[in-house]
Amino acid sequence: MPTESTFLLAGLFLLLAAAGWALGRFGERDEEDVAPPLNIDYLKGLNFLLNEQTDQALEHFLAMVRVDDKTIETHFALGSLFRRRGEVDRAIRIHQNIIARPDLAAEQRDQALFSLAKDYLHAGLLDRAEKLFVRLAQGSRYQVQALESLCSIYEQEKEWEKAIDAGQRLEVLGGRSLALQIAHYYCELAEAAAAANDYPAARQFVKKAQSGRPRTLRGTLTRAHIARESDEHKTALRLYHRIIDKHTYLIAEALPEIVATYESEGSTAGLDRALRSMLDKNPEMSSLVAYTAIVNNIGGIPIVDACVEQYMLDEPTLAEFVDLHRMADSDAGAHDAALEKVRGALSKLASATPRYQCQECGFSSQRLLWQCPSCRNWETQRPASRVQFDTVLQHSITSR
Ligand SMILES: [Zn+2]
Repeated sequence: MPTESTFLLAGLFLLLAAAGWALGRFGERDEEDVAPPLNIDYLKGLNFLLNEQTDQALEHFLAMVRVDDKTIETHFALGSLFRRRGEVDRAIRIHQNIIARPDLAAEQRDQALFSLAKDYLHAGLLDRAEKLFVRLAQGSRYQVQALESLCSIYEQEKEWEKAIDAGQRLEVLGGRSLALQIAHYYCELAEAAAAANDYPAARQFVKKAQSGRPRTLRGTLTRAHIARESDEHKTALRLYHRIIDKHTYLIAEALPEIVATYESEGSTAGLDRALRSMLDKNPEMSSLVAYTAIVNNIGGIPIVDACVEQYMLDEPTLAEFVDLHRMADSDAGAHDAALEKVRGALSKLASATPRYQCQECGFSSQRLLWQCPSCRNWETQRPASRVQFDTVLQHSITSR
């Protein structure tokens, strides 16, 4: 049965037919005062379409239609309809057909190039799309959209220097700040340099990331990581404390590194004090600290252990299985052993469920992704602070 978009295509064909007929009817009156019949070729094309023979319809269409000012918009509409139907090859052929016309006006050429670039993007032909967008970004009415698309292409290809350049040009032309996005591009460069042990370059990139407003705490985290890797533990701890003091969700990411840095210094007393002071001011951070500790098997720090115990006592689903309150009243050895057992089970459950979720689109993942792969927004993921029992149960039922 013909689909809705088939009817749309058919409608566009009829439009073309009408345009052709009107041209014939009114454009050639001098020579012949009789209206030409509706072009039989259009009807043939229409017939192909209604029979779902899109290939034949397209060939027919490309062979017969002269691109002119009256029909060009219909060509564009047809091309974009093919793209939206996922038939990108057909969209590409239509747009190439328009570009091939020798006397095309500059504006129409740009429109056709822009459409073709979008086709390439849709088809995953990033190199070809990039070339066209670069050309359009030089100077056309598609400059802003071309630069936006270039940023997206460079993000996918991890070409961060080019992404920074496109982003900065976009800020000037589009009149809006992309400071956060550009800061992340610099952080990507910093992380790559750090991974290659080029710490001086990595520090320079972090500096550039931190020069814009608003700042991203990712810069602080990256700088702390670089300091730790290059054995500057004091600097690393100073930066990690900044993350704790800001009582941000990044504790989920930073806590394991902070604990490891303190342990390599021989004492975690400073961390215990810093966390206590943070929790005095922000008691709601307790479950995030506990959950992070459970997932990363962090123990032996009194305030962290207290958070974990409180977390278990507050968890209603756990209470259905274990009488944690009675356990808390038993003697110290039995109490610790029982809590350790529950904690081990929780840790296993937590590792089976996503830890981070995008606040914009709901995409979830096990590790923190600075750019959401689904909606492409930056810094929109937040950590979970509880084991998602529903998800675990669902997972275990569906995987049976
Ligand atoms: Zn998202």
